[in-house]
Amino acid sequence: MSVAAGKPRGVLFRWAEILPLTEKTPRLTLGEGDTPLVRSVALEGLCGLDELWLKLESCNPTGSFKDRGMVVAVAKAVESGAKAIMCASTGNTSASAAAYAARCGIDCFVLVPGGKVAAGKMAQAVAFGSRILEVEGNFDQALNAARELTAKHPVALVNSVNPNRIAGQKTAAFEICEALGDAPGLLAIPVGNAGNITAYWQGFCECAERGLANAHPRMMGFQAAGAAPIVLGEKVERPQTVASAIRIGNPASWKGATSARDESGGLIAAVTDEEILEAYRLLARREGLFVEPASAAGVAGLLKLGREGRLRGGRAVAVLTGNGLKDPDTAAAQHTPDITRAEATVEGVERALGW
Ligand SMILES: *Cc1c(COP(=O)(O)O)cnc(C)c1O
Repeated sequence: MSVAAGKPRGVLFRWAEILPLTEKTPRLTLGEGDTPLVRSVALEGLCGLDELWLKLESCNPTGSFKDRGMVVAVAKAVESGAKAIMCASTGNTSASAAAYAARCGIDCFVLVPGGKVAAGKMAQAVAFGSRILEVEGNFDQALNAARELTAKHPVALVNSVNPNRIAGQKTAAFEICEALGDAPGLLAIPVGNAGNITAYWQGFCECAERGLANAHPRMMGFQAAGAAPIVLGEKVERPQTVASAIRIGNPASWKGATSARDESGGLIAAVTDEEILEAYRLLARREGLFVEPASAAGVAGLLKLGREGRLRGGRAVAVLTGNGLKDPDTAAAQHTPDITRAEATVEGVERALGW
């Protein structure tokens, strides 16, 4: 039986040859991956770049890049006979895990930091019917608990410490090389738990080995200033930032992130919440792209480097990791609405507009 009408889409179909699949792996899909890569003429000049391309990972089925890795992790969990999965999450991992668990008919347990998850992400975990545990602590503590719980109980861990997550997420690098005909000179990406920068670097290295790219990009990771353990070189006990998806003080893939930085000749730097929100507003107002705050960190970093005169042309890709609808509260706080009351007649609307 086919799982999708027409030509099946999704990471497991498109990228089977680079993923750890067997004949027994269920070909799960919600249509993830194959996301748009659009040029940002409005912002490339502001950054001092010749070309800036935006990878719209917000277009994935649950609204973030997490779906690319989750589809692989959940398919492999089902293949191994798991009847339940678990993750710790700042919101998007749980939304994605819950969706794929629902699709497979298995249980999903999510551990989230109490009161810290954006409203849209919480709504997704609820809608997909996951069992939600609000832990009295931060993400890092929730992840420690999830690791121990899944070692002790017959439940599969689907955080990015699961290598199947990284394998799925590396497919975005292949899509970029395929679309541009080569790797870009720079890749700008937000860094939280650091699984994604690790996955992209793995993907770009494999693209070069397979002849899909002539060179590697310099990997430019950006953490929020209040949650920048890799930049500071030490854990942050109480990470703080408006960008809740990267509010992480002890990244699980710390080593992967520093390897990506060092092997590529790149950098991992901090951007302030103010800089993140400036990029967040610019993406919406100048490009029509409504992303969540964490997603704007890569563009914020490029704008900052551009202002400092540190970018001299070249081609960059910035990964827009998640959809703005996930965090309506930040949107309401950051944008002054232009709303005028009007009578429901032609004259009434004209009056309200001053026409
Ligand atoms: C998960 C997430 C990140 C951070 O990715 P890591 O792999 O944890 O570094 C950034 N932005 C969004 C929207 C996310 O959901």
